[in-house]
Amino acid sequence: MDFVYDDQNIFAKILRGEIPNKTVYENDHALAFEDIAPQAPVHVLVIPKGAYVSLDHFARDASADEQAGFMRAIAEVCRLTDVAAGFRAIANTRAHGVQDVPHYHMHIIGGRQLGRMLQG
Ligand code: AMP
Repeated sequence: MDFVYDDQNIFAKILRGEIPNKTVYENDHALAFEDIAPQAPVHVLVIPKGAYVSLDHFARDASADEQAGFMRAIAEVCRLTDVAAGFRAIANTRAHGVQDVPHYHMHIIGGRQLGRMLQG
């Protein structure tokens, strides 16, 4: 599969500093920031700094260092937001997954009981 990255997407603009964000955590390979329309008391987006459109793109092509940095960022977000009672990690992907922003991102959602995973 070809993955075509559009560098005008809103998260690319956040990474370039063209749009502000509420940063929760950052390392060499990932940035985590508050979702602008939170679905729960904790709603953080973790994105790689590299140009990857989706989870399957990142999993296929990102280097081991990039993948480790991204996963460590998720660990730090979980620590910093204190989701010891539990959380949900969601990576919406393309049309069936209803992905709005074509830069890979993991939603970390928690802070309340979230109910079952899918509504229907
Ligand atoms: P998705 O449907 O998985 O692509 O989700 C995209 C998410 O990005 C949504 O939850 C939006 O609320 C969030 N979002 C869009 N623009 C911004 C922004 N400028 N800062 C933070 N979150 C944003």
